[in-house]
Amino acid sequence: MAISDYQQVLDEITAEIQPLLGQGKVADYIPALAKEDASQFSIAIHTVDGRTFCAGDCSKRFTIQSVSKVMTLTLALQRYGDELWQRVGKEPSGTAFNSLTQLEFEKGIPRNPFINAGAIVTCDALYSRLSAPMHSMLETFRQLAGNKTIVIDKRVASSEYEFRHRNAAMAHLMKSFNNFDNEVDDVLWAYFNFCAIELNCVELAKAYNFLANKGIDHTSGKEVLTSLQNKQLNSLLFTSGLYDAAGDFGYRVGMPGKSGVSGTILAVLPNKFTVAVCSPGLNSFGNSVAGIAALELLSKKLDFSIF
Ligand code: GLN
Repeated sequence: MAISDYQQVLDEITAEIQPLLGQGKVADYIPALAKEDASQFSIAIHTVDGRTFCAGDCSKRFTIQSVSKVMTLTLALQRYGDELWQRVGKEPSGTAFNSLTQLEFEKGIPRNPFINAGAIVTCDALYSRLSAPMHSMLETFRQLAGNKTIVIDKRVASSEYEFRHRNAAMAHLMKSFNNFDNEVDDVLWAYFNFCAIELNCVELAKAYNFLANKGIDHTSGKEVLTSLQNKQLNSLLFTSGLYDAAGDFGYRVGMPGKSGVSGTILAVLPNKFTVAVCSPGLNSFGNSVAGIAALELLSKKLDFSIF
């Protein structure tokens, strides 16, 4: 398919997923997210040669929630390399993103960096190496997305912090197994601020475009990850990015991806583009109903995937 047809494909997808909008449930365990309208939808592609295509409500920003875990891992890998894997595993979890039981069973080493426990321990590692973690994370997104107006939604961060008990339980459990270095509440505040960074789909696709470009940010030419690390990160996204629904997502979409409870999903087509979609209605796994359907349609219509 010619590159100019991406816009047409996104427009078709947006028309076809209309019956799904409003289906699913917005994440109400974070009170500030419960107010979102489940029928919102936007989708954007950013290609490795710098073209952007978007359909739906392209300017609407959403907090990126767990999609931030990919940047947390990226910044931690830049600083620790393979040493990080002593503190977090690489295996799919087969359990919900916020499960506690597996963590106890596996002695405080989370299965992978994308479930909450794994992201929180990665955040703890990063916290030890950055003097201003929230500032560094925000600046990273601003630079990669090319927009200085990107901010953290403090209302969402505070709401998550207020209702942090389950995430705090995970962090304390890891501390009891000597796999947590900093103060639990300090790290959680940083973690929730990362989750509360607000981006629209165009900015999200741009910010993570290095994942489709062998680790290089094409606008600055800078190496964000080595090509080996980039391949490894994409592989982990494929096996674990959608938690216990990663198998179904891989089967339907055929690309590495990462979801968040705001209804945001990022997917990567190596050497071609990143695609970001957002629609807040979630299925029982905490993944966007319309978002997954849209990515499945995209992969069918373009007839290419990583396989
Ligand atoms: N901030 C959310 C939490 O910690 C992220 C979860 C998600 O997006 N799956 O619960």
